[in-house]
Amino acid sequence: MSEAMWTTVKEDLRGRIGRDSFRNWIEQMEFCGMTDQSANFSVPSKFFADWVERSFGQQIQSAFWDHGGKVVRLEFQINEVTAPAPVKEAPKIAAPSNDELPDLPSNTLDARYKFDRFVVGKSNELAFAAAKRVADGEGVNFNPLFLYSGVGLGKTHLMHAIAWGILERDPSKRVLFLSAEQFMYRFVQALRSKTMQDFKEIFRSVDVLLVDDVQFIAGKDSTQDEFFYTFNALVDQNKQIIISADRAPGDIEGIEDRIRSRLQWGLMVDIHPTDYELRLGILQSKAEFQLRDHPHLALEEGVLEFLAQRISSNVRVLEGSLTRLFAYADLTGKPVSLDLAYDILADILRVSKTKVTVEHIIKKTAEFNNIRVSDLIGARRTQAIARPRQMAMYLAKTLTTKSLPDIGRAFGGRDHTTVIHAVRKIEDLSRHDSEMAESLEALRRQLEA
Ligand code: ADP
Ligand code: MG
Repeated sequence: MSEAMWTTVKEDLRGRIGRDSFRNWIEQMEFCGMTDQSANFSVPSKFFADWVERSFGQQIQSAFWDHGGKVVRLEFQINEVTAPAPVKEAPKIAAPSNDELPDLPSNTLDARYKFDRFVVGKSNELAFAAAKRVADGEGVNFNPLFLYSGVGLGKTHLMHAIAWGILERDPSKRVLFLSAEQFMYRFVQALRSKTMQDFKEIFRSVDVLLVDDVQFIAGKDSTQDEFFYTFNALVDQNKQIIISADRAPGDIEGIEDRIRSRLQWGLMVDIHPTDYELRLGILQSKAEFQLRDHPHLALEEGVLEFLAQRISSNVRVLEGSLTRLFAYADLTGKPVSLDLAYDILADILRVSKTKVTVEHIIKKTAEFNNIRVSDLIGARRTQAIARPRQMAMYLAKTLTTKSLPDIGRAFGGRDHTTVIHAVRKIEDLSRHDSEMAESLEALRRQLEA
C-alpha cells in the first residue's frame, strides 16, 4: 500500500521539482515504508539526506498529503553503498586504451534524446547546427560550446544528442555528461570522503565533458573553483567542453568573473522560444511516435494545430499535453479530438492564457513595431507611435483581466477613456484593414506562446 503511494507521490514530484533534480535526487531515494507519521528512506549519504530535506522536504511532504499520506517527517537511513549516479541507459564505454585511466561514472543518456528526434526550426537551428558540428567534427571546434535558453526548449536534449553522436562514432571516446548539480554532489562527496585525487583524475581524464544547467553553481564558491580548475585542465588538453545554462554567461549572477569570461571563450548559442510552425512540427513528430505506440487510436484533424496555437512555447509542456491526451484517449477508447483536448487539458490551456501580462504586451508590441518601450508608453502622438500604443492597449484589454484604469496606468498613467478609445479604434481598423488584423494575430500568437 505505501509502496504504491510512494510511486504516485514520486510521479507527482517529477512534475513539481523538474526532471533533472528528480533524477539526481528523488529517483535515488529508496522508500522503506512509513512508521507513525514519518516516511522512511534509504539514501547514499548524510549529505544527500540533508540536501533532500532542505531542498525538497516540504514538497515531498505535501505531495504525500495530496495522496492521502499523513506525513509530518522524513527519516533517512544512510546506506553508503548505494551508487550515487542514476543509471537510465548507460552507453557502453569501452575500456580505456591506457590502463591507468580511471572508470567514468555511468552516463545517464536518454535514448530518445538524439539528433534524429530533434525538430529544427528558426528558433533552434543555430543551436542544432553547432551541436551537430561538435558531435561530428574532427577535433575541437569551439570550446566551450555554450547553449542557453529558457526552460523546456531543448538544451538537455541537444546535449544528450551530442554525447550519443560522439559515442556512436567512436565508442572509445571518454564522454561524461552530468548536471552541474551532480558535479557539485560528486565534488562534495569527494571532499567528505577525502577522495579529491580520484575526483580530479576522473574529470581530467575525459575527452568530452558536458555540464548541464551550469547556473546551478552560482553562489557555490568552492564548487565554482573546482569547476574552473577542471575546465582549464580540459581546455589545456584540447578536450571538448559543452555547457548549458538558463541564461547567457553575462547574465548569471553569483559566478566569479574569471569563470564568466572563460564560459564566453567559445561559441555561445541561444535557443529562442518556439514559434507556431516549430511547435506544430514538434507535435507532428511526437504524434507519430505516439501513434506508433497506440496504432488503434484516431487522431482527428485540427488537434495538433490547436495545441500548437494554444500551448506555451515550452516544449516540455507541449509534449506532456500530447502524452496526456493520447494516454487518456487510449484509456477511454475515445478518438484524440478537439473536445477531448479541451476536456483533458483545461488546466494547461488556462495557464497559457493567463500568463500574458500588460508589461509583456507593451514590450512585445514595441519590439514588433520597432519602437522603444519608453516611446510606446510616452507622450508622443505621431501615428507611428500612437498606433502601436493603441494596439498594445487593445491587446491588454482582450488578453488580460486587467481593468481599464489599470491598463491606463500601465501606459504611462493615461485615463481609462483613452483605453476605451484605443480598443474601439483597433477593433474598427482590424475589421477593414487586413494588415492590422494580421499584425494583431501575429502579436497575439507571440504573446500566448
Ligand atoms: P531544457 O533542457 O532546455 O529545459 P529539454 O531538453 O529538457 O529542455 O526539453 C524538454 C522536452 O522537450 C524534452 O522532452 C525534449 O525532447 C523536448 N524538445 C525540446 N525541443 C525539442 C525539439 N526541437 N524537437 C523535439 N523535442 C524537443
Ligand atoms: Mg535541461
